[in-house]
Amino acid sequence: MEILLTAEAIQKRVREMSEEISRDYRGKNLLLIGVLNGSFLFLADLVRNLSIPCAVDFISLQSYNGASSTGAVRTLLDLRREISDYCALIVEDIVDTGLTLSYLLNTLQARRPKSLEICVLADKAECRKVPVPIRYVGFTVPNRFLVGYGLDYEGQYRQLPYIGVLDAP
Ligand code: 5GP
Repeated sequence: MEILLTAEAIQKRVREMSEEISRDYRGKNLLLIGVLNGSFLFLADLVRNLSIPCAVDFISLQSYNGASSTGAVRTLLDLRREISDYCALIVEDIVDTGLTLSYLLNTLQARRPKSLEICVLADKAECRKVPVPIRYVGFTVPNRFLVGYGLDYEGQYRQLPYIGVLDAP
């Protein structure tokens, strides 16, 4: 497998992102919202490097016919708390068409959090179909099928500490 982002490069960039988030949210009531399953490693590393307190919750979404075709998304597992008292930050593994995050933004915005922003590890910027305002981007990546560091192919590869390009998925 071709390695696109080494474990060291990911850890360095995640530390930088945590520092930026810690600066921006100091004194605020921060809630990190992890999008399952892909964001679990990224979120875990991100919170370990924060220097401010935060709450953590998770949401799980399902796309119909693959996210890129219809854009229809539904909530499989919802947050366990109200978010109106929080400055909410969505933590996602990768953004491709933007349809998943666009759905999530609309869903969460309706619950009136104090603020709502997005943090993604990897951005396939050239693939966007709907514009999504992303506050924190780890890496801009090419339009190839990536696995590792939370990203799977048919349930496999999530545990890899690096991100690689799967040759023939
Ligand atoms: P979007 O709705 O932005 O098109 O798709 C976002 C979702 O598609 C991500 O949360 C992820 O689950 C999946 N995805 C997009 N690109 C990749 C990729 O290269 N590898 C893997 N494993 N999943 C991807």
